[in-house]
Amino acid sequence: MTFRVMADRLRHQMYLVEETEEEAEVHRELNREQTATYRGAENEEETRERVEQKFVPLETEEERTYHEAILAERNRTGLARTHRLACKTIVSEDDCPLHDCGAMDIVREECGAIHFKGERPPGKKSMQCCRKGKVILQPPKECPQPLSKFLQNNHPKSKSFMAKIRTYNSAHAFA
Ligand SMILES: [Zn+2]
Repeated sequence: MTFRVMADRLRHQMYLVEETEEEAEVHRELNREQTATYRGAENEEETRERVEQKFVPLETEEERTYHEAILAERNRTGLARTHRLACKTIVSEDDCPLHDCGAMDIVREECGAIHFKGERPPGKKSMQCCRKGKVILQPPKECPQPLSKFLQNNHPKSKSFMAKIRTYNSAHAFA
């Protein structure tokens, strides 16, 4: 990657961090239009190429065989196919299928956890959050200072902190 491309990318990311919700919506609408125009113009072969190129395999043949065996086992036991989903390269976010897991209004009696309807494992009656009240977590630690004050609008720099919170988060996210 050339320095020019890296600089362009960084500028684009900074722009995304600073754009307002209104600007973001205009941006998304423009993206949708561009995608629709592009797809309207492509021929059958181009469509096939696009669909095939969406996911770039990052595994060796041996790894793939091993993972396929695990997937087959999961399919047999009825578990969701989410294996290595985060490792796959998604070229365009517009191509992500929409997932609807229902309203988040299922409350567990034992722990008070609120779940989405679609979270229920197939074939199971209940959600698996606390093994029916068997797992009890310690209360969370207190938020350290000055972070707590920043977040509670209790610090002279709170406003500036909250305005740039996504930039700070990105700068410290190494995962
Ligand atoms: Zn629970």
